[in-house]
Amino acid sequence: MTEKFDIVVIGGGPGGARAANRCAQKGANVALIEKESLGGICLNRGCIPLKALLASAHQLLAAKNAEKMGIETESVKPNWQTIQQRKNNLVDKLRKDMTASMKAGKAKLIQGRAIVTEPNKIQVKTDEGQINLEAEKIILATGSAPIQLPQIPFDGQTVISSNEALSLTDLPPSLIIIGGGVIGCEMACLYAAMGTQVTVIEALEQLIPMEDQWVGRLLKREFEKLGIKVITKQKVSSLLKNNNKAKLQLDNGQQIETQKVLIAVGRKSICDKETIQNLNLETNGSEIKVNEKLQTSAPNVFALGDVIGTTYLAHGATYEAEIAAVNATGGNKTITDYSIIPRTVYAFPEIASVGKTMNDCKAEEIDISVGKAFFRANGRAVAQDEIVGEVRALRNKTDDKIIGITMVGQIVTELASLATTIIQNGKVTNISFPHPTFSETLQEAVENTRLK
Ligand SMILES: Cc1cc2nc3c(=O)[nH]c(=O)nc-3n(C[C@H](O)[C@H](O)[C@H](O)COP(=O)(O)OP(=O)(O)OC[C@H]3O[C@@H](n4cnc5c(N)ncnc54)[C@H](O)[C@@H]3O)c2cc1C
Repeated sequence: MTEKFDIVVIGGGPGGARAANRCAQKGANVALIEKESLGGICLNRGCIPLKALLASAHQLLAAKNAEKMGIETESVKPNWQTIQQRKNNLVDKLRKDMTASMKAGKAKLIQGRAIVTEPNKIQVKTDEGQINLEAEKIILATGSAPIQLPQIPFDGQTVISSNEALSLTDLPPSLIIIGGGVIGCEMACLYAAMGTQVTVIEALEQLIPMEDQWVGRLLKREFEKLGIKVITKQKVSSLLKNNNKAKLQLDNGQQIETQKVLIAVGRKSICDKETIQNLNLETNGSEIKVNEKLQTSAPNVFALGDVIGTTYLAHGATYEAEIAAVNATGGNKTITDYSIIPRTVYAFPEIASVGKTMNDCKAEEIDISVGKAFFRANGRAVAQDEIVGEVRALRNKTDDKIIGITMVGQIVTELASLATTIIQNGKVTNISFPHPTFSETLQEAVENTRLK
């Protein structure tokens, strides 16, 4: 028997789940198919578990700083097993809540692996056997997996990906992280705070290479205060394993020994090859190609999130889900400007940037004035002893609009949506910035773009 739906969404990560909910809210008869755990990488092996561990690391560093704040403490040390247990418990709870809310909602949740066999036809392998579905529209949201370095393949023990790094049973004495991007930097802060000797090796000029140089410089300075060694402009050429240890050879001939190596050089889109073949989908490497409406090359098939390789961010996936849901239910919405999706890093300190960077402006020959403001001059930041960081706002001198904001500091990720609003309006419009808050530094940076 074949069950018929208006829309079948494949993949229950943040992107797929949001798309299924929205389509159902718009009145479509929707099935959401997930082969593993609802919530995808984000909830199960990504954003949430890492933020839970980072929250413990943050508390640990605060406790170590307690004396300065007038609080006497006995010795402060992490209990890694409890930290892991807390993380597992909260991920389990969020997953159960999400599953319950999805089951209570209007979309039908099916547990199993879905393959598109021919346009409009989907086969789902479940524990109870095979189910056949038919759908007028299909949304692919099948996500991504960690990229492996050919010269240093994952072994799950000594050479690990973020999957294992989130669930180590013991704290390693030493850890080399290959890749100074978002995941590499967040993991570096986590393990350095816990007492692991951490080295980050980045092939490009700086940490978080997609941001401006000042961001990389500031981050490196703060990483070194945490005891993290940062090596830039170096690649790892080979690895030798011996008795659960690894010796890495760098391109410059330097050798470094470590207990664990975390490869964090990015993620690559994944979609079952049968689905790609059966739909004859156009791809760009592993990424499914889409147009501005998130339509793939196959009629009535949409794709979003990590599988299209646009942002590799959960909120990028949900933003795209809103657009795909409109289009799959007969509407007409496009996405043209990806720079308004905030780029966030939950390192110590955090980074959040929206719109253009100074590098973008230079490359595009946009004449800008740069406004800077520092958290060391912010009352709330000083009161909390969280004075690291600054905000830079970019004003386009030609049309007088704010076109880029980059923030480094405590909880700046919480200011990212506000920065997006400012950029979408091109200015600060009718916003009262509560005093004292970190947000006042954002306001000041925007105002300072007018300083001569
Ligand atoms: C360690 C780490 C930390 C991160 N931190 C952040 C962060 O702080 N903020 C942020 O914005 N992003 C973060 N990300 C990135 C974020 O997790 C991803 O961008 C996001 O999960 C992508 O969502 P998605 O819905 O496209 O795919 P996914 O979350 O990967 O979900 C895809 C789902 O599809 C399912 N699936 C695949 N094939 C099939 C099939 N054939 N049938 C049925 N189901 C299938 C998979 O099982 C999976 O559940 C982090 C990632 C990692 C690894």
